[in-house]
Amino acid sequence: MDCLYCGDCCLRMSPKSAPDPCPDIIQDGSYYFCGCYATRPRECVNHEFQARYCPIGFEKTGCRNPQNVALRIDTGWEKIQIRTEQEKRNNV
Ligand code: SF4
Ligand code: SF4
Repeated sequence: MDCLYCGDCCLRMSPKSAPDPCPDIIQDGSYYFCGCYATRPRECVNHEFQARYCPIGFEKTGCRNPQNVALRIDTGWEKIQIRTEQEKRNNV
């Protein structure tokens, strides 16, 4: 499943703090990221929907145009890779 980085699952269903927002979520403009992506809990790693794209992300972002969806997914993925590299360097 592709994530649109709307943050809704982490803000509402965190295994760490439900029903409160996860203390590790990071907002970057309209994108939300995990602040501990490389070491996030198993529940977060295994979080899935039975759909190609996350239906909550569609609803929360209002992103419908396929090109905008693809751009958002690609941009979010690039950002989270940069954050993960920083996280790994900080943990060395
Ligand atoms: S640990 Fe990361 S992925 Fe899990 S709820 Fe918190 S911010 Fe989201
Ligand atoms: S798009 Fe879906 S999986 Fe991604 S942050 Fe939003 S609710 Fe969570």
